[in-house]
Amino acid sequence: MISELVLETTELQKHFGKIHAVDGVDLSIGSGEIYGLIGPNGSGKTTLIRLCLGLLHPTTGAIRLLGLNIPNKAILAKVGYMTQASALYEELTLRENVAFFAEMCGSHEPAWIDEAIALVDLQDRAHSFVRTLSGGMRQRTSLACALAHRPRLLLLDEPTVGVDPQLRATFWSYFRRLANSGVTLIVSSHVMDEAERCDRLGFMRQGRLLAEGSSAELRQRKGANTLEEAFLKFAEDGNEGGQR
Ligand code: ADP
Ligand code: MG
Repeated sequence: MISELVLETTELQKHFGKIHAVDGVDLSIGSGEIYGLIGPNGSGKTTLIRLCLGLLHPTTGAIRLLGLNIPNKAILAKVGYMTQASALYEELTLRENVAFFAEMCGSHEPAWIDEAIALVDLQDRAHSFVRTLSGGMRQRTSLACALAHRPRLLLLDEPTVGVDPQLRATFWSYFRRLANSGVTLIVSSHVMDEAERCDRLGFMRQGRLLAEGSSAELRQRKGANTLEEAFLKFAEDGNEGGQR
């Protein structure tokens, strides 16, 4: 059951020459949901996320985000984005990085910066230079950067790739805490065990949504024991020209 609609895309397409990176995607995502965009490398996850932020212009189709037609610069204040590759400044401290990203998004609340750093348990490293942090700490810093302006929607592009299992579990506890407070999260991943933790999933392949539903629903629809098996069966249907 969808509560308030946070993101809606209609017949969204993005072509790069002959490549149809996003090829007709209709999404409806409500507030407080954790929605998993699940698909292999090259299936269009990053392109879809960048379209939703207005960082890419669609070839065709429309996007409404928090009541605004995208592109719209005002969206920056309401949305947090964690990119697939780290975007941190090595020669600034952790806190300076978080403050910088918050300001870029129009927020000047020092308390929110400290709150974001506390959420990822890095208070004691706030004044360390980023270049001195471990990989996991950088990843947590990137999340704090996406959070410090208190966005209502978080777009997290493969946030736990290259992260050890323990930190991954920690990240998911942060995500759940945020969702419980009403934040909507869209998390892309190519890892199926991660998909199990989302409220709802969209299976992506070759720029299309193959199927949507909870992990249990998707397995059930294909009589599959695992999500991986369900994905492969939906993909087979796609090969036969069938949709959803
Ligand atoms: P994913 O994030 O699921 O790995 P991407 O959205 O990055 O997938 O890529 C989807 C497809 O679009 C790929 O075939 C990729 O090579 C292509 N693509 C992405 N960005 C560009 C670009 N700027 N120019 C040309 N092709 C691109
Ligand atoms: Mg990607």
